[in-house]
Amino acid sequence: MRIVVDLNRCQGYAQCVYLAHEVFRLSGQEALTYEPNPDDERRLQVERAAVACPVHAIVIDRLEGAERGGAS
Ligand code: SF4
Repeated sequence: MRIVVDLNRCQGYAQCVYLAHEVFRLSGQEALTYEPNPDDERRLQVERAAVACPVHAIVIDRLEGAERGGAS
């Protein structure tokens, strides 16, 4: 699966880190880093994190329908 976090929206609330700490990490107070291609077995965690994000910064699989251009 693929995820994208809009880091311009992210406010460092860390809800995603609590819910999927293998995927999302906060370094420092507001610097979020994340695994953009987590295993599918993490899907439920990631979906919960996306729902919990107060600013809806986490987008799941947004790229899947847009890959025809070859930019995988
Ligand atoms: S829950 Fe949303 S705002 Fe908070 S750190 Fe994660 S992506 Fe950023």
